[in-house]
Amino acid sequence: MAQRVAVSDGSHKKTTRVRVAVRLRPCMGKEDEKDEGLCVRGLDSQNLEIVNWRNATESVKYHFDAFHGEQTTQQEVFVSSVKPILPHILNGQNASVFAYGPTGAGKTHTMLGSPEQPGVIPRAVRAIFNLVKAKKEDEGWDYSIGMSYLEIYNEKVLDLLSPSSQDLPIREDKDKNILIPGLTHTTIDSFSDFDKHFVPASLNRTTASTKLNQRSSRSHAILLIKVVRTQRAPPRRQQTGKLYLVDLAGSEDNRRTGNQGIRLKESGAINLSLFTLSKVVDSLNSGTAVRVPYRDSKLTRLLQDSLGGSAHSVMITNIAPEYKYYFDTFSALNFAAKSKLIVNKPFTRETVAVPVLPVKRAREDHQARGSGT
Ligand code: ADP
Ligand code: MG
Repeated sequence: MAQRVAVSDGSHKKTTRVRVAVRLRPCMGKEDEKDEGLCVRGLDSQNLEIVNWRNATESVKYHFDAFHGEQTTQQEVFVSSVKPILPHILNGQNASVFAYGPTGAGKTHTMLGSPEQPGVIPRAVRAIFNLVKAKKEDEGWDYSIGMSYLEIYNEKVLDLLSPSSQDLPIREDKDKNILIPGLTHTTIDSFSDFDKHFVPASLNRTTASTKLNQRSSRSHAILLIKVVRTQRAPPRRQQTGKLYLVDLAGSEDNRRTGNQGIRLKESGAINLSLFTLSKVVDSLNSGTAVRVPYRDSKLTRLLQDSLGGSAHSVMITNIAPEYKYYFDTFSALNFAAKSKLIVNKPFTRETVAVPVLPVKRAREDHQARGSGT
């Protein structure tokens, strides 16, 4: 049942729609930031609102496929937004999951997480092994699972499983499958086998980030899990399903932070891939048959066969509640939303119907106090 929801939600729409979820992380600012109040909050499991900076007596409301509030656990995000698409990978279909949003809003927490709170990546890989195990017993197919791990940095494609490699070209075969000929592809037999390859490669990336001006916030990290299944009996048909799990570069506008030189070039390149991604998602979700601009950036070119078409895609937009993120949050929400509504009422606690998601007591008190006319 849940699978259907991920495929389409409306008979008039094609299966190309990208599902959009928003995840708000808890407030992590210092005490004085908390005293300023928070600029965004959830209303229910699909709606949220943000202060309207143009007019403080208004808020802007957004509607999404799912809204995950600050109390939402890693398991809940996984079950609601990612788990439903996984069975398709075993049937030769493609899928992609993105974490989008400003640096510091929780993309890596959502995708990678920590040993105590594992994120989407370890949960999805475990789940795929479990799905394959369950299938094996009653069907006439053999399954093989493999992984690749790469980074797009300055519009260069770099192999994270073979860090000394150079920029790799992206190709398309006669069946319109996208491939990267020189990319390391490692067969994995178990989750611990996956971990053995993935963890050191992730650490490489983190180390590089502190040396090279927050490289991790400026590059797209892309994990590919490929499931190939082959019929045991003739005609021995073979199907390949690909799952891309993507921790995108930060969506903040680097021009505002006064970047110069190489940094400016980097942000330009990041903006190209992110900007193109937004155009691709827009054109897929609008349902009009205009040309989808996959070829305009490396990221969208790579994802061409796994985003739109018969593929299943989920975008998790991560946002932070503190005021210092306000403009980045606003632009991330506008990227994520096709529709928004400006409502003519102040952003105050008491004007809101009982929220579905629990809200911290201290915040309620503060906002109630701060809500004059
Ligand atoms: P990004 O990858 O978008 O730059 P991170 O995932 O690194 O952001 O998150 C920034 C900080 O916030 C990290 O310390 C992370 O552990 C914490 N964090 C993010 N989201 C959550 C959450 N939902 N619950 C608890 N902590 C979070
Ligand atoms: Mg990160």
